[in-house]
Amino acid sequence: MDPPAPTPFVDDLRAALGDDAVDVTAATRERYGRNRLPLGDRLPLLVVYPDNTAAVQSTVRLANRHGVALYPVSTGENSGLGLRSPSHRSCAVVDLGARMNRILGVDEVLCTAELEPGVSYQQLYDELERRGHPLMLDTTSGPPDGGIVGNTLDKGAGYTPYFDHFGMSCGLEVVLGDGRVLRTADGALPGSRTWHLGKYGYGPFLDGLFVQSNFGIVTRLGVWLMPRPPVIRTFFFLYPDDDDLVEIMERVRPLKLSNAVPTLLKVTSDLYGLGTVTRYPTARSGGVTPLPDALRRELREEHGLGAWCVSGALYGATEESIAPALARVRAHFEASGRARYVSHEEALEHPAHRIHVDTFSGRPTRQELGLLEWRAGGGAAWFLPATPVVGAIAREHQRLSRRILAEHGFEYVVELVCGPRLARALHLILFDRRDPDEAARARDCYRALAAAYAAAGYPVSRAPLDFQAEAMTRLDTFPEVCASLKHALDPGGVLAPGRYGIE
Ligand SMILES: Cc1cc2nc3c(=O)[nH]c(=O)nc-3n(C[C@H](O)[C@H](O)[C@H](O)COP(=O)(O)OP(=O)(O)OC[C@H]3O[C@@H](n4cnc5c(N)ncnc54)[C@H](O)[C@@H]3O)c2cc1C
Repeated sequence: MDPPAPTPFVDDLRAALGDDAVDVTAATRERYGRNRLPLGDRLPLLVVYPDNTAAVQSTVRLANRHGVALYPVSTGENSGLGLRSPSHRSCAVVDLGARMNRILGVDEVLCTAELEPGVSYQQLYDELERRGHPLMLDTTSGPPDGGIVGNTLDKGAGYTPYFDHFGMSCGLEVVLGDGRVLRTADGALPGSRTWHLGKYGYGPFLDGLFVQSNFGIVTRLGVWLMPRPPVIRTFFFLYPDDDDLVEIMERVRPLKLSNAVPTLLKVTSDLYGLGTVTRYPTARSGGVTPLPDALRRELREEHGLGAWCVSGALYGATEESIAPALARVRAHFEASGRARYVSHEEALEHPAHRIHVDTFSGRPTRQELGLLEWRAGGGAAWFLPATPVVGAIAREHQRLSRRILAEHGFEYVVELVCGPRLARALHLILFDRRDPDEAARARDCYRALAAAYAAAGYPVSRAPLDFQAEAMTRLDTFPEVCASLKHALDPGGVLAPGRYGIE
């Protein structure tokens, strides 16, 4: 049985924020409780829609008074990680995105923007377009309706030189668990004119406390933007075999260490690419999972993909100025004779490659969401371990993942997003969520992957809601310190209890 909406809390919220700022209807609760994860939907008690920082403060103070937990979301498009579902059923979701979705300012001289939590990637892109694209944002390859604040607070990332969304954020406004408002970094000085310019401020650097935690509700964020390069040229190399991953990683590392390529380099597996343009071929496979190698090869050929596709981009003032760097990158990847080059112009015509053209150009795209349709039933969970950019280790990780996924009846749908030293190994476990047996296998598969990688010394960087607490138990003194901080900043324990395993 779901707990009923706590009437005195709802009455006080309505009195403070207005009738239409609170929704307790079953349809809304169902919509907010829906997610794609294996452990099922999690309906919140109710949903609150504040429209400014003071309204968030009132909500937090009332939550403390009535002992009701809150779960903040911004745009709530955290697909494969939890969407808008709260950490506990006894939470009221605070949807900041519905009404606090204003771009508060764009500074074209110092290349910053100040945003409310509901500003989506598409919205900021459209605003920059309206201004004639003087600046480029870094976007995810996920939902364009997803937002910059929520993604940053979940340590999300993109692909351009500004890929590190927390790294490129500067200055937060946060409502703490006791209702106080904290402005971080240079924003701590009343009237500061450098809030979104000076990241580290005076005294301890507190911004990091508010990512992947439950210590506050962020109501405003400064982000840095990059001047849009006049010319962007992507490049692609298709490799024929799964084991080519060893060569690929050895070639990627020096390019990134020397910064010869300014973007991250994506190393995309065949099914990750195929899933963006087609569905699981039930008729041809007879429903077998994982797909036989011969069929995978056929599908790759039909869709112009490799076992692996390496992509990146070069930026410059003119096409001529980029040409020498592109020639060097081609010589580097083509040296062994295994890679087939695909040009920027060809990629524009290919929907799977076009995703990379868009993301390396700071343009939101819906095409990658096709992955969520690869299997019927819509289940999706991201497993996100770290893989060093070393061929032999990447080969071991590929073997480990393929084995565990196959044992549980799932495909290897992986993209390695490589910096100079570390790759984010994006594994997408796709399953039929309507089938309880398959959902249970997806749960077990995630747990087996997480346990095996942790035992080998490779942690995850982010976890779906269903598995956040479990990931925290693997860490040493870290959870205890987080619990002390929680007690100091949210003494009533009203903010997202259990998020990232912090109670
Ligand atoms: C095909 C596909 C591709 C994807 N590609 C990427 C990618 O390239 N990079 C990437 O990072 N992700 C990716 N994702 C994952 C996800 O969809 C995006 O990261 C999405 O932008 C995050 O959701 P959101 O911005 O709507 O955040 P929200 O759902 O609003 O927020 C995320 C979490 O942060 C917390 N939070 C949110 N707002 C606040 C606040 N104001 N104060 C305190 N806590 C808050 C909440 O716990 C919330 O659950 C992808 C997903 C799919 C399906």
